[in-house]
Amino acid sequence: MAFKLAMFPISYCARYNPETKSWSEKWIESDRIPYEELQKMGEDKQAAVYENRNALGLPAVSYTSQYGYGCFEGLKAFSHKDGKISIFRPEKNAARFANSMRGLYTPPFPEKKFVENCVEFIRKNAPLGYVPPYDSAWEKDSFATASAVYIRPFMNSEATIGVGIGVAPYVVICGTTVSTYFKGGNTKAITTKRIRANPYGTGNIKVASNYVISALAKKEAEDAGYMEVVYLDAVEHRFLQEGSSCNIFFVLKDKTLVTPELGDTILPGITRLSTIELAKAEGVRVEERPVPIDEVMANGIECFVTGTAAGITTIESITHEGKERVFNDRKPGELGSHLQHILKGTQYGAIPDTRGWNTIV
Ligand SMILES: *Cc1c(COP(=O)(O)O)cnc(C)c1O
Repeated sequence: MAFKLAMFPISYCARYNPETKSWSEKWIESDRIPYEELQKMGEDKQAAVYENRNALGLPAVSYTSQYGYGCFEGLKAFSHKDGKISIFRPEKNAARFANSMRGLYTPPFPEKKFVENCVEFIRKNAPLGYVPPYDSAWEKDSFATASAVYIRPFMNSEATIGVGIGVAPYVVICGTTVSTYFKGGNTKAITTKRIRANPYGTGNIKVASNYVISALAKKEAEDAGYMEVVYLDAVEHRFLQEGSSCNIFFVLKDKTLVTPELGDTILPGITRLSTIELAKAEGVRVEERPVPIDEVMANGIECFVTGTAAGITTIESITHEGKERVFNDRKPGELGSHLQHILKGTQYGAIPDTRGWNTIV
């Protein structure tokens, strides 16, 4: 079943009413089939269940489906050893989601509702067995291959056919289980001539239309034998931007950690922010600034990309204009591994959460 999306049975759906300026909310309970029971069903039956869970009653023809006018979030929930479940920094995703909606000139979804209903989403689906229980085996590789819940809030527009601005958005919160994002094998990256985000464009908000170029460039990189693609800036084609949908970091020879500064072409990742905060707390010098590709091709000793899906993922090399720069003998670097250890440990409750990052469900 390569095409199934294993959605959880219960999803949240809200709709903005521009007349009353309020959100009407409901829970869509597609079924109450426990996870264990679903695993025992035949493939066709299972596929029908998943298809039904995805039929959320959104308009097929909308600004979103026709023009990519929509936005989304991605955040994760983690099982702890003591049976608790936590969501990682949901208030940050709530703020970014509202900002994406404002960026689309559509009424923003209230941040409080966002957090409350992400929590409620887990509370409703957990009793049916959809949150993978804590497994001590995850500790062996510092949770690198552990499972988690991926929560996907998104906004779609109302039904419409011409190009325009949505005034009555839908907001859905749904989710599925995930394990590792990058599928093993090589971790090589290559720069692309494609442009992910332009100045004065939408690169700093998480809008649907940004991800077509990402998908194309990533396919081109994969077809050429690389795992990841790296974007350069639109104007000079000289400064690093991001990975396919991850932020990018380098450790330089003098041990400074550098990452491109935020601006209108960089997505402000919450893993990026957390990585910077953790590194600073470890006494690492961190610089957010323009990062020329030539600098890291000459001076980079470690590279990793960050994102909710990817965590902190090592990049073994970058190929640019036919030349390959290998980082740390193709092995995970010291700093990236250390930060990954703290980040994942905090998320899974193995390391005390001293920063208030975990919202307990
Ligand atoms: C979502 C995303 C990221 C990572 O953001 P996180 O909040 O860390 O998950 C980075 N770049 C792009 C383009 C993204 O869409």
